[in-house]
Amino acid sequence: MIHRMTEDQLSHAQLKQSDRRPIIAIDGPAGSGKSTTARMLAKRLGFTYLDTGAFYRALTLKILEAGISPEDEAVVVQQAESTTISIKTLPEGDRVFLDGRDVTAQIRAPHVTNAIAPISSNPRVRAIMVNRQREIGRSGAVVMEGRDIGTVVFPNADLKIFMSASIDERAKRRHLELQKQGVERDFAPLRAEIAERDEKDTKRSAGPLRPADDAVMLDTTDMSIEQQVDFIVCALQKKFPMVVR
Ligand code: C5P
Repeated sequence: MIHRMTEDQLSHAQLKQSDRRPIIAIDGPAGSGKSTTARMLAKRLGFTYLDTGAFYRALTLKILEAGISPEDEAVVVQQAESTTISIKTLPEGDRVFLDGRDVTAQIRAPHVTNAIAPISSNPRVRAIMVNRQREIGRSGAVVMEGRDIGTVVFPNADLKIFMSASIDERAKRRHLELQKQGVERDFAPLRAEIAERDEKDTKRSAGPLRPADDAVMLDTTDMSIEQQVDFIVCALQKKFPMVVR
């Protein structure tokens, strides 16, 4: 039997689709282009953008400032429970607040980046962060990026993208980004640091970096940011024609 929708049913179906507030999960290693792409994508769609790495970075900053060892699991968990981390979109861009203090610049410092691994691999810390991220994203219309969004935070996300790029390309991008900030770094140690961070993020047992089974794979090695955004918009359009005009 062939079911045909009446005009009313059809417009209701379209309305329901246009009311959809999709959750878009973007995962991938450092330098794969996910932050810039996710931010631009969210802007284009009028969605909320959430950089989940900022949560782990802000907590790491707090631990270092307090003189606590990142390896001291119990104390780190206590700190994670009692710390308020929020991200606010202001006219000058997204700002990250740690217990009410703007730490947007500080959380990107190399000594913070290099101290994250023992904290982000702690399963109890991850459980706390994942809960907070779910809370922020659950009403949808959100682009969330990190390492475990499609696998752990939102395994039922409407669209999952796993971005990658060759290690050389990722190191090149990071090198350029630092140069623009006036920071000169030798290429080889920078590349080695990124490779080491990938290895730790991939090998940890809690929330490891890996593509979800139903993720769309996107190799950005030879792609511009605009091409990456267009690719994701197309993928979304196929699933939710009414959301993307
Ligand atoms: O994305 P970003 O490079 O700022 O992330 C910094 C670190 O935070 C990662 O190397 C990873 O250890 C951790 N992280 C994570 N899970 C996420 C996002 C980031 O473990 N969802």
